[in-house]
Amino acid sequence: MTTEKFEKDARTLHKFIQLYCDQKHKTVEKRNDFIKLKYQNKELGKLEYNLCKDCEKTLKISYENLTNCPHEEKPSCRKCPAPCYNKTDWKKVAKIMKYSGMHMGLLKIRKLFKRD
Ligand SMILES: [Zn+2]
Repeated sequence: MTTEKFEKDARTLHKFIQLYCDQKHKTVEKRNDFIKLKYQNKELGKLEYNLCKDCEKTLKISYENLTNCPHEEKPSCRKCPAPCYNKTDWKKVAKIMKYSGMHMGLLKIRKLFKRD
């Protein structure tokens, strides 16, 4: 896949998992760290996060899978003929994406109707 596509997907992943953890794991202890964003030897900055242990693991697995995605034109993971996630991880990621996707959709709608 192209570097642009990779970067966009990685940033989306990061944003969605961070939002999920912020909302769902408010009382869980978190830690600050970052992932160096890199694709085909090109440095793309870094993704700073503040996540609980569990979400950090999910982010790292997803990021690694994205880096290793063998497809030239990355399909949607749901439609992938050779999924790289194991079932447990995939379920977790799918849940996070669904939750955060809906949440962001709502935020957008709210902004649309906001009067100021
Ligand atoms: Zn979390």
